Amino acid sequence: MINLESNIQYVKGVGDKRAQQFAKLGIYTVKDLLCFYPRNYQNWAGAMTVQCAPDGEKAAVRAKLVSTVAEHRVRRNMTLYKCDFSDGQCIIHVTLFNNKYLAGSLQLGREYILFGKIEKTLTGASMSAPELENAQSGAGIHPIYRASGTLNSKAIARVVKNALDDLPAFEETLPGSVLNQYNLAPLDFAVRQVHFPTDFGSLEKARHRLIFEELLVLLLGLLTLRGKKKSDAAPRVKTDYSAEFLKLLPFEMTSAQKRAVAQCVADISCRFPMNRLLQGDVGSGKTAVAAAVIYSVAKNGFQSALMAPTELLARQHYETFQRFFAGTGITVCLLTGSTPAKEKREAKDKLMHGEISLAIGTHALIQNDVEFKNLALVITDEQHRFGVKQRANLAEKGTDVHTLVMSATPIPRTLGLIIYGDLDISVLDEYPPGRREIRTDVVNSSYHKRIYKFIRAAVERGEQAYIVCPLVDEGQGELHSANEYAAALAAGGLRGINIGLLHGKMKPKDKEKTMRAFAQGDIKVLVSTTVIEVGIDVRNATVMLIENAERFGLSQLHQLRGRVGRGDRASYCILVSDSKSAAAAERLGVMKKYSDGFKIADEDLKQRGPGDFFGSRQHGLPQLKIADMLSDIETLRLCRAAADEILKRDFALSLPQHRGLKAAVLNMFQNAVGN
Ligand code: ADP
Ligand code: MG
Repeated sequence: MINLESNIQYVKGVGDKRAQQFAKLGIYTVKDLLCFYPRNYQNWAGAMTVQCAPDGEKAAVRAKLVSTVAEHRVRRNMTLYKCDFSDGQCIIHVTLFNNKYLAGSLQLGREYILFGKIEKTLTGASMSAPELENAQSGAGIHPIYRASGTLNSKAIARVVKNALDDLPAFEETLPGSVLNQYNLAPLDFAVRQVHFPTDFGSLEKARHRLIFEELLVLLLGLLTLRGKKKSDAAPRVKTDYSAEFLKLLPFEMTSAQKRAVAQCVADISCRFPMNRLLQGDVGSGKTAVAAAVIYSVAKNGFQSALMAPTELLARQHYETFQRFFAGTGITVCLLTGSTPAKEKREAKDKLMHGEISLAIGTHALIQNDVEFKNLALVITDEQHRFGVKQRANLAEKGTDVHTLVMSATPIPRTLGLIIYGDLDISVLDEYPPGRREIRTDVVNSSYHKRIYKFIRAAVERGEQAYIVCPLVDEGQGELHSANEYAAALAAGGLRGINIGLLHGKMKPKDKEKTMRAFAQGDIKVLVSTTVIEVGIDVRNATVMLIENAERFGLSQLHQLRGRVGRGDRASYCILVSDSKSAAAAERLGVMKKYSDGFKIADEDLKQRGPGDFFGSRQHGLPQLKIADMLSDIETLRLCRAAADEILKRDFALSLPQHRGLKAAVLNMFQNAVGN
């Protein structure tokens, strides 16, 4: 009898040669085999009739062979076999190519399941080279495995089946309390069903259970291996004043925003420092959440710091918070690299004496010798834009303060934080009401004339536009540089319209002046490099034109697009690209198709490939077999809660009910180190 540790060659149907083929897939033991999860499934279970099968798509049809098989030798290496099947109502003309063995095995009058693309015609239907099995043995949901060379999916499935048939029931690895609390299927069910599901509901349950376990084990490993002693000296912000702030807002918070506020408020009321990630797509309203928490902190007599990645954004936040807190007695100051020395000195002095409740700034705020009287909360906006170094600085500064990081992009570094940084997560999965879809078009530069006319019309309606070019300064081949481009526009396509220019090499003062003029509507069209990428909020802007769009990553394009569609007017995003590459076209197509940032990040991941994105080994993370940290982020969140609970009671995982988990952790991390 085999067990999980048995060499694969002891499984029925595996000889030396097969074992070598499996080795190429990294499969050496029975356990490796069972963890080689199907990459997809085909539904042969509900085999349909031709009538219900979708035209031109792959489907399974149940039909009887009603003709003899006719052989047509087309040329030397090509023999066709033609025959007819009937589903009782409709004749299906089937063609097989060179498949003498299959053709010879077909029996007149016998029922089969045919799987393939069905082309419906006036007189019936046809299928070209379908997969084909006996109706009895072939029915079911078929697992599709990643094939390698001569080891095809079917062969792998057969071996997996043999192994499962010979193995006794699997011993449960998760404690009963976790199974119950998170409503998870038992291991034995999950392993068997993930390979050979009886139905899609069971498959879903099985996958969920396995993903949960994998992520839980990962988190347990990371949290215990890297587990640092937690500070318990954070200021306790005891009274919750956030409801008071909600009344001051000119809008009603979404329930996602309210939930996030409640989570933060609960966190900061205890002596353990909050360490929370607030994740929400562009425009989901993260700023208001931050404001509610800051308000509560200030009303309790503590100070907060809010850091933004750019001066521009810091200044905008400063203005927003002044508006938010007008008349509340809460004082706000702005500290950036370009704040005049005298003002800076004054602000620092007031911070030290506790006369200012909120300091807003760039990372200079935290790096410099700024002293707070009683800093309780540090919020970092657009977290992903901060470098690793700044983050390290931040961490040093505030071991005992509550921290909230806000991010619009579920990028790996952010995810890394969930894992390394011991972060809790709040997700804004809801948009404020009244948000309109931004119409997105992908065109080539022959459309420029029309685009400029379109922008002119928008400006005449009193609206504003952004034009983004990838680089400053001339040169760089065909790339539009913001400088040249703005000049050309002013002389040509947009003559007579007040055009502003914004780029990273400008002095902060000038940048600010330009941005302010745009926000006030004096500048109608803002030509810029990607400095506007994050956070900027000008509600009157309705057109976003992006030149050389293929140069940008999808997430970046999504961020840029999020600059429009903030008011209640219809908004447009025009992506201009002359790239001939099919990959570029596909990427830009994603922007047209999706408006949800998480979806786009997903596509980004798919198109770049997970290796690229995660570089998991580079980070010393174990390779995951079934979970995907991006798409399973909700499960990851659940697992985090489960892991915390387990570790709270049994940090060493030494209780008998945690034996299975402990073994799994050791196994996962041993392998990770080996990689
Ligand atoms: P982001 O999450 O991208 O930082 P912001 O905080 O800048 O988004 O919010 C985008 C816009 O939506 C702002 O103008 C803000 O005032 C507005 N807003 C935020 N929450 C709501 C809400 N619940 N109802 C209506 N408007 C809201
Ligand atoms: Mg923001």
